[in-house]
Amino acid sequence: MNQKLLLGTSNPGKINEFKQILQNIPYRLTTLEEESCNIEVIETGKTFLENATLKATQYANATKLPCLSDDSGIEIDALNGRPGIYSARYGGPELSDDERVQLILEEMKNIPYENRKARFKASIVVAWPDGKILEKEATMEGIINFSPIGKNGFGYDPIFLLPEFDKTSAEIDPDKKNKISHRAKAIRKIIPLLIN
Ligand code: IMP
Repeated sequence: MNQKLLLGTSNPGKINEFKQILQNIPYRLTTLEEESCNIEVIETGKTFLENATLKATQYANATKLPCLSDDSGIEIDALNGRPGIYSARYGGPELSDDERVQLILEEMKNIPYENRKARFKASIVVAWPDGKILEKEATMEGIINFSPIGKNGFGYDPIFLLPEFDKTSAEIDPDKKNKISHRAKAIRKIIPLLIN
């Protein structure tokens, strides 16, 4: 029986992406819910990597299982890198994803196409209860669209235009996104290290 690997996130969108990308690794994937792990990790880090490390190490220590966590977000050049590490709660924790998207569109309503560059960034950390740690990072470059388009994905996907496809990351097929996304690229860097 394969060793378990805990997916240290409660975001259903990310759990789906992780399960799809990690489907062929020799670990049995499990979730915080399945392990009845409901500790709250306070994200006090100043970078995506620090926050991913906080989550992976605290969940690994609480469950005694190796844990893969990510921290990710979107950096928009015209907003001086905001929302960055505050992407999930930008504008306040009470806002929905749709309201956060509207907030960004409002903040950028006077910014022309050529100045709307942005990138998703992801840090992935796998932590073991004995203190071993693996970490990798990756990005996906794009443009903030002038309006939301598409129903796939989550978060800022409807306004993240991928110029090479002329589609937002909420319009492209989820299989396609899972090949090119910041999270997919960072996880793919970590898979060979996990297998060895
Ligand atoms: P985290 O759970 O602290 O990593 O928060 C990441 C936040 O960044 C999410 O709640 C989304 O708002 C945003 N984000 C990260 N990755 C993506 C993505 O692939 N698509 C859309 N939004 C994303």
